[in-house]
Amino acid sequence: MGMNVIATDCCPACGSVGMSVLSSPRPQFVERCPSCGSAFYHSGAAGAVSHNDAYNVDANYQRYLETSNESSMRRRYEETLRRLRSRLRDVEQPHLFDIGAGGGDFLALARSRGFRIAGNEVSRPAIDECRTRHGIDLVLSDDLLALASEAPKYDAATMWCVIAHVDDPDELLSGARALLRPGGILFLSTPRYCIIDRVALLLRRATGDRYRRLFDRRINHFHRRQYTRRGMEELLRRHDFAPESVRPTVGYGLHMAEYLRSLGLPEVVARPIGATLDLAVRAGFLPRNILSVYARAV
Ligand SMILES: [Zn+2]
Repeated sequence: MGMNVIATDCCPACGSVGMSVLSSPRPQFVERCPSCGSAFYHSGAAGAVSHNDAYNVDANYQRYLETSNESSMRRRYEETLRRLRSRLRDVEQPHLFDIGAGGGDFLALARSRGFRIAGNEVSRPAIDECRTRHGIDLVLSDDLLALASEAPKYDAATMWCVIAHVDDPDELLSGARALLRPGGILFLSTPRYCIIDRVALLLRRATGDRYRRLFDRRINHFHRRQYTRRGMEELLRRHDFAPESVRPTVGYGLHMAEYLRSLGLPEVVARPIGATLDLAVRAGFLPRNILSVYARAV
């Protein structure tokens, strides 16, 4: 793929030919697949910001830790471990590998629920944090194929908001598949193209591109792709996974006040509205902004 090409030939998710451009190059641009509806950010002539570089900045990572909604994540972690258990009924102590394990909260919970655990991470500050908080040593590498060749095959591989960030999602999925034994389960959670994105696009178009903060907040050089159920299913099949459940889900990793601040709302408004929206998230009333995916390695 050439860096200066405006439209890529085919959809990175479903493989259909003919992408449509949602935002014209500045030089970054966003394309969407008319067939499966998935959306993709391209850095265009600006050149890509390396995922690894961005995540090695200690300050960014600390800020993320401070604003993340731990009780909401904890509920999702618990539910995911229950679902993995029920899909791996024949295994007494499932061996789980968390890809991009961050501060290790998910792995620590998995360990306490009887999983044998391992994981990797590209951020050195996250690895240190994980060791300090949980006594878990992550591997500093994102070469999953190399890790798979020297490790036992796992019963489960998990990726919490990883596939939207990485430079090469195909390489990531090949690596995840290599880590798993046949019949093993992949779980992933990732942003979904949803009503928020339709609204963001409407706002941009209605204001002649003057208000594009919501649009830019949703898809950017960090969150580079938003899949739909169909796009995700096709992508998984191409990587020797049988999709078992690709479910639109309500899941916001940060407190709502933090999202509102990032959209430019003043603190006096962001705090009370944010607290109300946090309750709405808890009750499942907000848009289903992510996909929760379970797929079987075939
Ligand atoms: Zn597509």
